[in-house]
Amino acid sequence: MHMTSKLAKLGLFDAMVPRYTSYPTAPQFKPTTGSEHMQEWVQAVPPGSQISLYLHIPFCRRLCWFCACRTQGTQTLSPVASYLQTLIQEIEMLGRWLPEGVTLSRMHWGGGTPTLLSPGMIGELSDAVVAIAPLARTAEFSVEIDPNEIDAARVDALARAGMTRASIGVQDFDPEVQNTIGRIQGFEITRDAAEMLRGASITSLNADILFGLPHQDEARIAGSVQKLLTLNPDRVALYGYAHVPWMARRQSMIPSDALPAPEKRLKLFDTARRLFDWDGYTQIGIDHFAAPHDTLAIAARAGRLRRNFQGYTDDPADVLIGLGASAISRFPQGYTQNAPATSAYAKAIQQGHFSTARGHVFAGDDLLRARIIEALMCDFEVSLIDITARFPGSGARVTALLREAAERFDDMVQISETGLRIRPEGEPLTRIIARHFDAYDMSGAGHASAI
Ligand code: SF4
Repeated sequence: MHMTSKLAKLGLFDAMVPRYTSYPTAPQFKPTTGSEHMQEWVQAVPPGSQISLYLHIPFCRRLCWFCACRTQGTQTLSPVASYLQTLIQEIEMLGRWLPEGVTLSRMHWGGGTPTLLSPGMIGELSDAVVAIAPLARTAEFSVEIDPNEIDAARVDALARAGMTRASIGVQDFDPEVQNTIGRIQGFEITRDAAEMLRGASITSLNADILFGLPHQDEARIAGSVQKLLTLNPDRVALYGYAHVPWMARRQSMIPSDALPAPEKRLKLFDTARRLFDWDGYTQIGIDHFAAPHDTLAIAARAGRLRRNFQGYTDDPADVLIGLGASAISRFPQGYTQNAPATSAYAKAIQQGHFSTARGHVFAGDDLLRARIIEALMCDFEVSLIDITARFPGSGARVTALLREAAERFDDMVQISETGLRIRPEGEPLTRIIARHFDAYDMSGAGHASAI
């Protein structure tokens, strides 16, 4: 059978599957997990340990049509200023419950548009964080940068706050594609932002681009990737555009008849992948590419790659605390998610407790399945040695699960005494194979297409 037909038969072009940035996935979270769980789990963080922190800024000056992020449009800084005060209160609350001596291995500011913050606000926010948990000596501090919303003063403020990595949103450089997705951003603006950041000694640059956008074809995506490569990004995330207008209403501005068919999406990904490969980038998991010197590429070579809500990471911390509306935290005991609406989030913080609206307490074989799925998503393989070292006594159960997967996915995977490996030709199926190990009911969860 032709390879495309094989991939089609296994559901690549019609399955809706999670991206597995967590297991269980966020649609499985329930309101039975609340702020008391978050407080208890924060208090249980080992004194003197390293944790990660995510700060969410859900405001944008422009609302791009393709974007499914929960974010509020604003033309003034006043709602941002008021939100910032609530976020600082939440940071102080975290500081009251966090044991002594905790430092940060990673900090990420995302959104929305964190670079909407003025230089003064950037300083205020970073001072509040440092007061409760300073950055560890080897910490990485990354910030999502909108090239339309950055200037020298804000770059300097971020550099003073300790930013080490900038993550630039690009999506696509083609003018017709940009017009259709409601995000106009000329190449020069992106190039100037990259130069400004490097000029301020931010040595590490990430870029996000999308495949599967309206009017994209192989020539256009190749043109965009080639332009991006002239900026020498250290890492690139190449995400598939998920067209879900029933969940993200702004996307109804995008004509669905201009979207590439699923088979074409695979070709678009492959065109971009080959260009990164020719330029010496290492593929990281299903959708990232990193220059050989980048810490993600080093972690991948050493088998230390992990997956969290920001995608791929080499962060060794077991605790990731998300602050701000809708932010998700992960603890060894489970997940918590803050109230998504800024009003409900602010009300909870003003009442003096975390705004946890839902979450999940790990139970049964959640952690075992989570590790199998993480290993597939990071390394395309599950090692029985790794799994049984982490979960003693699980060997027979895991072997049975791997055998079931090998039967279902046939020559797309290879099973042996040491574990299961996805063959290179089966890699596009990784999320579908990971789904096989997911024990939760997914009906109505509204996930994105597998490619
Ligand atoms: S892509 Fe960025 S700037 Fe555009 S709406 Fe989404 S978060 Fe805001």
